[in-house]
Amino acid sequence: MRSYSCPQCGTVKTRLAPRSGVTDRLLSILTIYPLRCQLCTHRFTTFLGKLKANPRRNYDRVPVQYPAQVRPVHDPSQRVVVEGMLSNLSLRGCRVLTKQRIPLGCQVMLEFHPAEYDDPIMVDGALVRSRTAEGIGLRFSSFLRSEERRLRRLLDLRLSDHAI
Ligand SMILES: [Zn+2]
Repeated sequence: MRSYSCPQCGTVKTRLAPRSGVTDRLLSILTIYPLRCQLCTHRFTTFLGKLKANPRRNYDRVPVQYPAQVRPVHDPSQRVVVEGMLSNLSLRGCRVLTKQRIPLGCQVMLEFHPAEYDDPIMVDGALVRSRTAEGIGLRFSSFLRSEERRLRRLLDLRLSDHAI
């Protein structure tokens, strides 16, 4: 087992990415697999020299417990606020535990407060991708640069180094 560093940003916080398309399939015969950087999103291929199952996710979700607020973007009154608890987090999405209802496909803004920071992190644009009795799954679509940087720092601290 070893770690593979990202050719773009140098971190070893990378993981196997889902294979798609003919090229990925052909390369996988030679155990050349796609990897995804967990901190800068760069996708690259590397020779592993051993067979690996095709993973489902591109990003690892880090377990967290941060208070969170979700607001629908198209709420004219600006008053609908869903309070909840962030239970996991990656560079591209998260899960929010909440008893309140929010429709699937709804565009939202997210604010959550990591214990590591004085100020909350804001995600300008996110989409409700899944819903269960316990809460909702969000996929992030837009961030301010500065907020994405803060999130990246947080994940850098929290993500474990992957041995592949
Ligand atoms: Zn990277």
